[in-house]
Amino acid sequence: MKAAVVNQEGNDVEVKDIPVPTPGYGEALVKVEYCGVCHTDLHVAAGDYGKKPGVVLGHEGVGKVVELGQGVTSLKVGDRVSIAWFFSGCGVCEYCNSGKETLCRSAKNAGYSVDGAMSEYCLVDADYAVKVPDGLDPVQASSITCAGVTTYKGVKTSNVRPGQWLVVFGAGGLGNLGVQYGAKVFGARVIVVDINDDKLALAKEVGAEVAINGLKENVVERIQELTNGGANAVIVTAVSKVAFNQAVESVRPAGRVVCIGLPPDTMDLSIPRIVFDGIEVVGSLVGTRADLAEAFEFGRRGLVVPVVETCDVDEVKQVFEEMHAGKIQGRKVLDFTKLGGCGCGHHH
Ligand SMILES: [Zn+2]
Ligand SMILES: [Zn+2]
Repeated sequence: MKAAVVNQEGNDVEVKDIPVPTPGYGEALVKVEYCGVCHTDLHVAAGDYGKKPGVVLGHEGVGKVVELGQGVTSLKVGDRVSIAWFFSGCGVCEYCNSGKETLCRSAKNAGYSVDGAMSEYCLVDADYAVKVPDGLDPVQASSITCAGVTTYKGVKTSNVRPGQWLVVFGAGGLGNLGVQYGAKVFGARVIVVDINDDKLALAKEVGAEVAINGLKENVVERIQELTNGGANAVIVTAVSKVAFNQAVESVRPAGRVVCIGLPPDTMDLSIPRIVFDGIEVVGSLVGTRADLAEAFEFGRRGLVVPVVETCDVDEVKQVFEEMHAGKIQGRKVLDFTKLGGCGCGHHH
């Protein structure tokens, strides 16, 4: 079967022919339909989190269960499921048992510590594969599997309430969805910040009330002015350190800054600012199975519509390059449905 894997040098992506895996105890085999391309895939392919030669990339996968391993009770053949970054947890630790399973110290991650979804078939841990509701377009579901749930959880973590000001830093694949969840699900008044006018225009189309271009305006001053003393909450999806520092200066007293983007830097935190103004700065990592089920449901109801574009699996290298250069609006999704097969109903 065709798969997008990390090359032998551990520094780039390549399309390769590899064997179809066999489901073990508690696992299911999924025939992948779509898999979105995420910035994290670029980092894994480049070896930024340690070299991973041979691993199948992809954690924005959606497909249908075609075979069950022994002991599976939570899925049946034909179910449409997602393959997410949070692939599985240990199920017994303090994090797994307190609604924080993504922080499990033994968590496995699809397309990183285990083979992911950029292949014609992939394995899932049946109890951890979240079902995609009927009525939700599978291409959009792929995008909600990572970018959607990550921003949904980020907005949830921000504690923003209806009518309050939420600033979304970064208007790319993540930020665009952050705007939608913020405005349409949580009822917040959303300000979006980016340095790309096209991305800002798209964010306004999907629900942002105000768009600020950081290259043309003083971001902090403008936000302070618009919100009469600072936003109630901020989520930072940008990958530049500048945005994180602006975020801290953009909230009002008792405001909360939620960090989602992952630049490999440290941010500046003024201790007097934190203490005198009671600012909170927290991290948010993808989402739990329950968060993903909720994020899907808002998609199914049409409140959140990811901006997606499908492409051929063979184009993956080019997509990675375009993404690296920041040229992509919304999400590129690899389409595995066109690869077909012989139609006999078996996988080969
Ligand atoms: Zn991702
Ligand atoms: Zn655990």
